[in-house]
Amino acid sequence: MPINENTTPQNCGMSTQQEPEAGICKVCGCTDDHACYDPDYGPCWWVDESYTLCSHCAGPEDPESLAALRLMDSENEED
Ligand SMILES: [Zn+2]
Ligand SMILES: [Zn+2]
Repeated sequence: MPINENTTPQNCGMSTQQEPEAGICKVCGCTDDHACYDPDYGPCWWVDESYTLCSHCAGPEDPESLAALRLMDSENEED
């Protein structure tokens, strides 16, 4: 008999921690209320639609990431 895994989205204290929670960065655990802060770029933002990866944790391959921004800015520097 198959076990129905798609029952309720509620966590009854038995989280398997498989599914990242929306609004919490799956890498650093930051949230909207406790965002990472970068002195140059300010608080982080979400780079994915499910709100599980913040800009400060995303890699430069993600155009929305802080790393990508830094790369672009360093390329634009003309001093
Ligand atoms: Zn993060
Ligand atoms: Zn963050």
